[in-house]
Amino acid sequence: MATARFLVPNLSETICPALDAAESRHAVNVLRLQAGDRVILFDGCGAEAVAEIIQINKRVVTLSVLERTDTVRELSSSLEVTVALPKGDRQKTLIEGLVQLGVDRLIPLQTTRGVAQPGSGTYERLERAIVEASKQCGRNRLMQLGQPLRVNELANLVKMDASERVPSYFAHPYAAAHQLHEVRHSKRCRIAIGPEGGFTEQECDLMLSAGMTSISFGPRILRVEVAALKFAAIWASLDQAAQG
Ligand code: SAH
Repeated sequence: MATARFLVPNLSETICPALDAAESRHAVNVLRLQAGDRVILFDGCGAEAVAEIIQINKRVVTLSVLERTDTVRELSSSLEVTVALPKGDRQKTLIEGLVQLGVDRLIPLQTTRGVAQPGSGTYERLERAIVEASKQCGRNRLMQLGQPLRVNELANLVKMDASERVPSYFAHPYAAAHQLHEVRHSKRCRIAIGPEGGFTEQECDLMLSAGMTSISFGPRILRVEVAALKFAAIWASLDQAAQG
C-alpha cells in the first residue's frame, strides 16, 4: 500500500508538526495508524517530507520529520480553468480530475444560464475535495481556488493582462475559431467553460472583444466537467511533451 499522505501547515518551519482534526480522524479511524508508522507530509505550498508518528490518539497526532523530499509533481506551465460549476457530485468529479491533471487554478464562473452559483459551504467542500485529491495523486502544491468571476469580470481580467499575451480560450461548440488540436503549449493558458445551457451570444461577444478565442472540442456536446477535463488533459499532454 502507498504511504499515507497528510496535509500540514508550514512544513518548512516546523520539525514536529501535528495533524488537524480532520486529518487526525483519517489517520486514527480510517487508516488505524500507530506510533512508529511512517507517513508523508505535505504543506500544499510545495514542501514534502517523510515523517514518523510520535504520538497518536483520537485527539492528537504528532509527528517528527525525518527527511525533506520536496518532490515536484507540477506541470511546467500554468493552466487556469474558469468554469460554470456543475451541480452536486459532478463538482467533485471536476475537482478530482483537475487536481490530478495538474491544473494551477480553478475559478468558478458566474454566467447567465448557470445553474449552480457557489453558495455558503460550497467553498469549504471544494477546498476539502482539492486536499483529498492532492493526497491521492501526490501533488504537493494545492490547486488554487479563486473567487467567482462574472463573464464581464473575466473579460476585464483578460484585457488587463493583454500585454502578457496569455492564450485565453472559451469553449463553445458552435462557430468556434479554433479546434482543440490547434492549441500550442505556452507558459500560461486560460480556458473558460460555460454552463449546461451554454454561453449566451452576449457573453461570447464580451469574451471575443476582450481578445479571447473561441474553441471547439468536436461535434459531441460534452458535460461541463468533461469539457473542462478534456482541455486539461490535452494541456497536460502538451506540457509533458514540452518537457521531452
Ligand atoms: N447546450 C449548450 C451546451 C453546453 S455544454 C450550448 O448550446 O452551448 C457546457 C459547456 O461545455 C459549453 O458551454 C462549452 O463551454 C463546453 N462544451 C461542451 N461541449 C463542447 C464542444 N463540443 N466544444 C466546445 N465546448 C464544449
